[in-house]
Amino acid sequence: MDCLFCKIIAGEIPSDKVYEDDLIYAFKDIDPQAPVHILIVPKEHIESLDDINESHKDLIFHISLKAKELAAKFGLTKGYRLVNNCKEDGGQSVNHLHYHLLGGRSMAWPPG
Ligand code: AMP
Ligand code: ZN
Repeated sequence: MDCLFCKIIAGEIPSDKVYEDDLIYAFKDIDPQAPVHILIVPKEHIESLDDINESHKDLIFHISLKAKELAAKFGLTKGYRLVNNCKEDGGQSVNHLHYHLLGGRSMAWPPG
């Protein structure tokens, strides 16, 4: 499958890995938008948040829990943002479900 994140998970494309387990792979974003910018990606190829179902319940909880743990590990004591861009209007550019963990600076709301 011609998927950038599947290739990163498989080690075919290099990445700056920060965490990995049976379900997820987390690595630094190549174009960071904050001092800490980590991508948390399920190992299963799921196109977008719009494609999850009941079978992904444990996975989605697991991502939230690991986001919290990574935020602590990277010293984001003042808070952080966990973002999913879903499909065209959401600004998704890689069609493999992923969450952005952003922190280390104060964030504006609403996003552009
Ligand atoms: P999105 O726009 O939500 O689909 O996010 C895709 C993210 O992947 C962007 O923030 C990109 O900077 C990031 N990205 C693209 N290619 C790579 C790569 N080879 N390694 C790390 N991050 C990447
Ligand atoms: Zn994929």
